[in-house]
Amino acid sequence: MEHTPAMQQYMSIKSKYPDCILLYRMGDFYEMFFEDAKTASRILDITLTTRGGANSHIPLAGIPYHSAEPYITRLIKSNLKVAVCEQMEDPRHAKGIVKREVVRIISPGSVMEDGILDSRANNYIMCIYPADNRYGIALADISTGEFTASVIDSKLIFNELSRISPSEIILPASAEKAEIYDKLKNLGIMINCTEEHSYWYDNAERTLKNQFNLLSLDGFGLDDKLCISAAGALLSYLKDIQKNNLIHITKIKRHYPERYMYIDSATKRNLEILSNVKNNSRHGTLLEVIDKTVTTIGARLLKRWLLQPLTDVQEIRARIEAVEELKSSNMIMMEIEEELRCIADIQRIIGRIAYGNSNPRGLLGLKSSLMRLPRLKGILAGLRSMLLKDIVNIDCNESVVELIERSIKEDASSIVTEGNVIRQGYNSQLDELRSIEKDTRHYLAEIEEKEKRETGIKSLKVRYNRVFGYFIEVTKSNLGLVPSHYIRKQTQANSERYITEELKEKESIILSSRERICSLEAELFHGIVNEIGSHVRSIQELAEKIAILDCLLSYSKIALEYNYCKPDVNEGFSISIVSGRHAVVERLCNNFVSNDSILDENNSLILITGPNMAGKSTFLRQIALITLMAQCGSFVPAESASIGIVDRIFPRVGAYDDLAHGQSTFMVEMIETANILNNATHKSLVILDEIGRGTSTYDGVSLAWAIAEYIHRNINAKTLFATHYHHLNKLETQFSGIRNFNIAVHESGDEITFLHKIVPGGTDKSYGIQAARLAGIPQQVIERSREIMSMIEMEDELGDILSKGTDSDTIKEKIVRFKSGKSRKNDKDSGRQMALFESLSEKN
Ligand code: ADP
Repeated sequence: MEHTPAMQQYMSIKSKYPDCILLYRMGDFYEMFFEDAKTASRILDITLTTRGGANSHIPLAGIPYHSAEPYITRLIKSNLKVAVCEQMEDPRHAKGIVKREVVRIISPGSVMEDGILDSRANNYIMCIYPADNRYGIALADISTGEFTASVIDSKLIFNELSRISPSEIILPASAEKAEIYDKLKNLGIMINCTEEHSYWYDNAERTLKNQFNLLSLDGFGLDDKLCISAAGALLSYLKDIQKNNLIHITKIKRHYPERYMYIDSATKRNLEILSNVKNNSRHGTLLEVIDKTVTTIGARLLKRWLLQPLTDVQEIRARIEAVEELKSSNMIMMEIEEELRCIADIQRIIGRIAYGNSNPRGLLGLKSSLMRLPRLKGILAGLRSMLLKDIVNIDCNESVVELIERSIKEDASSIVTEGNVIRQGYNSQLDELRSIEKDTRHYLAEIEEKEKRETGIKSLKVRYNRVFGYFIEVTKSNLGLVPSHYIRKQTQANSERYITEELKEKESIILSSRERICSLEAELFHGIVNEIGSHVRSIQELAEKIAILDCLLSYSKIALEYNYCKPDVNEGFSISIVSGRHAVVERLCNNFVSNDSILDENNSLILITGPNMAGKSTFLRQIALITLMAQCGSFVPAESASIGIVDRIFPRVGAYDDLAHGQSTFMVEMIETANILNNATHKSLVILDEIGRGTSTYDGVSLAWAIAEYIHRNINAKTLFATHYHHLNKLETQFSGIRNFNIAVHESGDEITFLHKIVPGGTDKSYGIQAARLAGIPQQVIERSREIMSMIEMEDELGDILSKGTDSDTIKEKIVRFKSGKSRKNDKDSGRQMALFESLSEKN
């Protein structure tokens, strides 16, 4: 059957956007058809109907134009792309079918809408350009205009993805057949394969030069062709889907991952930097403790800082010095905070201004934020540290403040087309139209008085509605008094509505002036926005500095509130911490016990033994976190800390099943350990917690031993090794750089108390049964396990015991025999494990 002209138009547009849900504007609705309608009705929970009469069953679903945003948000959050197709002409004036066009594509990585974006996190789209063993990477957040490019080793791509968590990825079409594509597909991130030619060097370079209006890209330091290919392709994709020049992308930064401490996915997860493994939330994370930022721009930067600790001593010291200076004056901190609290998300506001979808509220937010800057500069004026002095140099963009102040009403409505946006006095033509409208309205009030007087109908009213415009309403009881020149328009239950020649004449003046006012206001608004648009780069730069100030202030607040110390960060090898604490655990428990730690050339591998729950993991992570915090430029939870910069922290902590990828606890542990052994350097910090736990005791101990030995001999990285295999304590006697420590436990009869204090020396006690009792294991099971333990202690082989039966009587008999010394072969011998260890030590 032949489709209607509208459906033909729909299908022709849809054929160009097969991978998008097409929102096809029809009057007050966005309509979706066919599969799009089915998908949308399922996701949005909206009614699915059909269109085209009895003979045609085209599935149809629609969402109201005025409240489309929440629906679009849900489609985007379901990882779909939405193409917005608008009517490009007024249907009243259209000849034939209304002209329609896709004005924009919204995808998870190219969102501008506040409702979809998380204000405290960046929203990245990432382009990966694979070339042999290296990948060109480009990254953009189009809500803020941030744009960077880098080159990474192909092996590191998944770590980079974990660090950045992009919402969308683009790849060249040829990559669809490559192995990487299949792997990426499993991540649940939207992937788009885009036209190959946009990655070709010449094309990509041209795209970038055009964007930045430059003859050469040299000034950006894009020293690798892969960066240019990836960045150019990403930009052309974004411009294509946004149908916009993206003038707020004013620069590109070359990012060098090798200049930062490398944080891979295991580090991010194991140290619970942004998200807590157990509850998958921000609660109980380093971010939660550290983040006292008061602006959204600061919050976003702080997150980036935590995932990109610095390795350059000067840069780290610059942050630390600024924190120290701020921290020294409570007064200054409070004053800065007061100003920062009034600063809106100027990065995203200016992004929308440049993009062309800003509103009057955004402009007012920008104005009130910029107005704070002179005072902020005044507060910072006397400060000496470099980063703070740098902020004093920002351009406050007074001309922008002055323009907005002069043009936009304080109580402006948020919808430009509804008028009531532009201030009186900004434009004389607008003022004139407004006064005509006002006079006429005034005149209407006079008409009411006059008609009341002349007709003698006291309850007569001049009213307005959208359908009839202005009319005179007379209640039924007064109908006899209605004069003959009234023209009846409508009968209501208790009244009649009339119009008069005079009323209609005034109405047409009001309505036409209203229409002209609204369109003139919109026009003026766009002019103002364009003018502010020329300040994009300067406002972006000042926003970056404000964000830095907010992060530094946040550091100072926690340093004061939690009593942190200034770390001495240096190029040396050692990490030496006096009375260190775990930044997160100390917030969650009342009596945190601090501990010292020294890792240096003579103590490069620290072995910590102790029962479960003694605090081994906490101690290990605390050192990793202190190091990380120091390299982020923060003060640290300790009495004093000297931190030799590390290139990478490798934490292998905690049992965790990667069920999603079908890997057992043991496999996850071994993969992470293999990564450490293959990639750690002398400058790395290695944290190994209970290695070998996921397999049998013999395998586990042997692996743990060999791993410790390998790290010490071949890598000699600073290493903390927690284990409940006390046999490993023997390593200390064989290697000069290995030291044993244990976590003190106070024993009183059957009672044990964890003191959480690290003390020199090893221990061979594991207190497993006592710990089980503390955990609430029933007494019967505890007693039974004591019986069994006594027996195991008596016998060499577990199998031997089991083969002879383990009923209580047999055990009692064995105990009697044991006590009499008849069955004891060797006092010290605790079985096969010991024998194994003797043999291992002999080999060394
Ligand atoms: P392990 O790794 O030895 O099994 P954890 O490090 O997981 O032990 O610590 C167990 C619990 O003990 C932690 O959840 C914490 O509440 C408490 N804890 C650990 N270290 C300390 C400390 N230094 N001071 C106070 N409580 C601590």
